[in-house]
Formats: sequence, structure tokens, C-alpha cells
Amino acid sequence: MINVVMFGPPGAGKGTQAKLLSEKFGFVYVATGDMFRNHIKNETPLGKLAQFYIDKGDLVPDEVTVNMIKEEITKNPEASGIIFDGFPRTIVQAEVLDELLKDNNQKIDAVFALEVPEEVLIQRILNRGKTSGRKDDTDPRTIKRRLEKYHTATEPLKKYYDEKQVLHSIDGLQSIDEIHRLISEIIEHIQNGDGR
Ligand code: ADP
Repeated sequence: MINVVMFGPPGAGKGTQAKLLSEKFGFVYVATGDMFRNHIKNETPLGKLAQFYIDKGDLVPDEVTVNMIKEEITKNPEASGIIFDGFPRTIVQAEVLDELLKDNNQKIDAVFALEVPEEVLIQRILNRGKTSGRKDDTDPRTIKRRLEKYHTATEPLKKYYDEKQVLHSIDGLQSIDEIHRLISEIIEHIQNGDGR
């Protein structure tokens, strides 16, 4: 069982890579953004709460996010691996995740940080907004707020995971195939037991 985190700012390509990896390795794919959007679509109480934050470009409070993800982790005991996309996004979330995994004798094995310059991110998000139907992808002010939140709340996780020696920094301007190849190689190393 291996646990992998796709890390990076909005628009970095986490979802694209996570989907390719889950197909290749058969990992369970857990994307908090998708989970929230499902709740919003189904008009659940959690969805209504999440939408309030998401529409402003803010993070959903840790407590709400953590409760939602707990179920997801315990739901898939026989998976060969889990790939997290959009989670954790704060130090608190990362600490809770570590605790949850530890209870099952597991840990985060690799964090792939996709590095992309801000002006490229904004272009990518605006492009995606033309077809995604996501309100948070069309308003430049919301996009700016999401990027700010990334820097203040999420980016400190790089240090957190670097200290645990699981962080892999990847140039997110490379082609989708090349990034996929690089990440796959690292995961294969981990699966073969030869480490970082
Ligand atoms: P992106 O990575 O492009 O920002 P996501 O689909 O991952 O898109 O997330 C969309 C929104 O959902 C975020 O802007 C945030 O409001 C909320 N969200 C997703 N994951 C989390 C999380 N782990 N903690 C708090 N809020 C989250």
C-alpha cells in the first residue's frame, strides 16, 4: 500500500497527473475538490457550506475537510495505493492525515510538487474556466485569492514534507507525458523498495 500526494497551486496539473497515475497503478483517486463539487451538485448540507468558501476562493475549514476525507481513507482498505489530489492543503490537514495513516501502519510515501510560474497558472485556470463550468475558474479576483491562499496556507507544506524526505519537486512546464514518466519512475522505485 503506498500513499502519494499531488501537490501544487491551482492549475499546476495535479488532477491531470493524478488521473494518469491512478489508471497506470490502479490507485484509488481521492480529490477533495471533486468531492466538494459533488456535494454542491447534490445540494447536501456539506455542499452548501463548502460552496460559501469555494466561490470566494477561500479554503473550506479544516474540520469540514478532514471529516469528509476520513471516510474516504477507511473506505478502501484493500487498495494498492491512494493518490491524494488537493489534500492536504494546510499543515493541520497534513498532521491529521499522518495520524490517520499511522493508525493503519502507513505513511505518505511521496509528495510530487508541480512547479509552475504564476502567470502560466492564471492562463491555465482561465482556459479551463471556458469549459469547466467552474465559477471559481472564471473570476480573476477569485483566482487571485486562491493563489494567495496557496502561498499562505498550502505552500508551507513543502518544508513539512521535505523534512520527512518525501518531497519531489517537478518542473510543471514539461509535457504531460514527460511529467507522468518522471513521477511513474519514482513510484516504481518506491514499490521496488529502493526508496526516495
Ligand atoms: P484547484 O486545485 O484548481 O484549486 P480543486 O478542485 O482542488 O481545484 O479545489 C477547488 C476548491 O475546493 C479550492 O479552491 C478550495 O476552496 C476547496 N478545497 C479543495 N480541497 C481543499 C482542502 N483540502 N481544504 C480546504 N479546501 C479545499
